[in-house]
Amino acid sequence: MTETLQISQLGDPALRQIALPIDNVHDEEVKRLIDSLMTTLVSSNGVGIAAPQVAVPYQLLIVASRPNLRYPNAPTMSPTVMINPRLLSHSQEKVKDWEGCLSIPGIRGLVPRYRAIAVEYTTLDGTIQQQTLTDFVARIFQHEFDHLSGLVFLDRIESTQDLVTEQEYLKRIVSTPADLK
Ligand code: ZN
Repeated sequence: MTETLQISQLGDPALRQIALPIDNVHDEEVKRLIDSLMTTLVSSNGVGIAAPQVAVPYQLLIVASRPNLRYPNAPTMSPTVMINPRLLSHSQEKVKDWEGCLSIPGIRGLVPRYRAIAVEYTTLDGTIQQQTLTDFVARIFQHEFDHLSGLVFLDRIESTQDLVTEQEYLKRIVSTPADLK
């Protein structure tokens, strides 16, 4: 069993650093980091995590959408490790939807993101992969990708009125049937 890592919280300078590329994906340290990030993600009910969130300044993120306590309506996918990811292109269209962050507990925000994106990244076995992501999964990528540039979702919101507490979010938004939103 790998260790659960401590997640840096808003205010920690580690969250504001620019992440560095990973030269060797086969490095044992990198493999250990990925295992620990995965364990940390699962135990904290996240749908994505980026290495700077555990104070490791490297370009590494995991996108792992699945329904859980924090995101009951998330689609299910197998966790995808993305090393040195790049955003190749994006739709003109942006959509606003709710996000939270393991580094900003207790707060949710309505964040505008591109609806569809094309991305490129290095996989666990060192090959370059290109992929099109849409909707919630595209949102997770953009959120985690921002962490690699020292940005958090609060930097992307249009108005402080688009911020709510986790408690109000669960009460008003998750529990409201889709046709009443
Ligand atoms: Zn985050």
